[in-house]
Amino acid sequence: MNLIFLGPPGAGKGTHAQLLMNELGIPQISTGDMLRQAMKAGTEMGLAAKRYIEAGELVPDEVVIGIVKDRLQAEDCKNGYILDGFPRTVPQAEALAQFAKIDVALNIDLADEVIIKRLSGRRVCLKCGATYHISTLNGREDCAACGEKLVQRKDDSPETVQNRLTVYAAQTAPLIDYYEKKGILRTVHCAPSATVDENYAQVRETLGLK
Ligand code: AMP
Repeated sequence: MNLIFLGPPGAGKGTHAQLLMNELGIPQISTGDMLRQAMKAGTEMGLAAKRYIEAGELVPDEVVIGIVKDRLQAEDCKNGYILDGFPRTVPQAEALAQFAKIDVALNIDLADEVIIKRLSGRRVCLKCGATYHISTLNGREDCAACGEKLVQRKDDSPETVQNRLTVYAAQTAPLIDYYEKKGILRTVHCAPSATVDENYAQVRETLGLK
């Protein structure tokens, strides 16, 4: 199954993509993680992407399209993949359609006020991509999966989060319509108080997993 996870920043795309990756044995391909790794490694692409990411803006289409096109050639994508955070603009979606056949675009929907609370308490592992919320860490500062020190993403600061939501509404939300018209959109509405397990159960049901 070739999947796209759509939805605003902080809606749980990464968390659910990781759960699904473990369950189905297909890779989660997060353009945000790949760009952050490139930034950490100090590559030319990472350095070029840094100012966009830290301002909550989108990295230019041609950069991310190139990364995804290369990544989808890898052997581990043969039986399917989960695109997490790509496409984020209509031109990206149009480019993707030239080199990939997507089965389902899953839209994870969540209210803005929940997103802002979530992102301000988010801590991430830059090594393995795991994410946590401070409310569940009990003071722990390292990643339970790989031991790396957890950090707060610069773009999770309140001002940048607001800009990311504005950018999402202007540039990414039109993809909901785009995939609806293609007949492959499915939406999961996450209640503000729902747990990860409850939301993941909805994701599974929406994808028709037994
Ligand atoms: P994410 O981890 O998915 O929230 O992405 C973090 C940041 O990386 C975004 O705010 C953008 O600056 C950049 N980014 C990730 N994916 C894309 C994409 N598909 N198109 C453009 N920029 C992206």
